Amino acid sequence: MNIIILHTQDLVIANKMADAVGVRFESQASHFRFSTDKEIDIAPLREALDVDINYLPAFDFSKAGLFVSDMDSTLINIECIDEIADFANLKAQVAVITERAMQGELDFSASLIERVALLQGLNVEVLDRVYAERLKVNKGGKALIQFLKTQQIKTAVVSGGFSYFTQRLAQDIGLDYNRANTLVIEDNQLTGKVKGDIVNATAKAEFVVELCAKHQVSPHQAIVIGDGANDLEMMAVAGLSVAYYAKPAVLEYADIVINYGGLDIMVDFFNKSL
Ligand SMILES: [Mg+2]
Repeated sequence: MNIIILHTQDLVIANKMADAVGVRFESQASHFRFSTDKEIDIAPLREALDVDINYLPAFDFSKAGLFVSDMDSTLINIECIDEIADFANLKAQVAVITERAMQGELDFSASLIERVALLQGLNVEVLDRVYAERLKVNKGGKALIQFLKTQQIKTAVVSGGFSYFTQRLAQDIGLDYNRANTLVIEDNQLTGKVKGDIVNATAKAEFVVELCAKHQVSPHQAIVIGDGANDLEMMAVAGLSVAYYAKPAVLEYADIVINYGGLDIMVDFFNKSL
């Protein structure tokens, strides 16, 4: 028996879906669940109903031990490097490279080195301005993190962006861990370089494995969420992968797709009342 989750509380939408697929449903606190033996293609239903719909994956949510999120365009609303570049009047130039890297068209590490070099000479205060004036936690993000804490699940953010932002974000919303690239600063200016090894797709996956080992949970008990091509490697090591308003390669790969609602629709999967 397959269970399909309709991530809405709108009964009108639930009835439309029931009419379309000929399957009965039951109402849960935050969503509807359809049980069926049929193979139903949910992609066209999502588009027709403008709502998130997912199969309940074969993942034991009661045993989830770790949640790792990408930062830029997943846990938060912006690509930090594009916004920093805006202060050098280079946003358009940098954003084109960021977009191509996230689509998987460019080598991530090389593209990051190229973009960071363009930031040379910027005053460090722009980092604070980006954080304070432009960075917002995406819808449902804080609620999701609060919920995961009640489930004793460790939480982390990992980013091919910068530790200045992951550290502040982790502090502000109560994440247990964070990892990202460190911008080198001299005389209160960005030097256009990052310190040490770059946090690329492989390093993101290694971070997931490292945190699993630290907390003695199997990678099969880890949930990862992201939107870009550099999230695919960590998705491959985790037991469950989630695409959040993601690039096509990620959409195609992930077990769960969020394209309409907020991050907290993840809570629907933990429902224990069945
Ligand atoms: Mg991202």
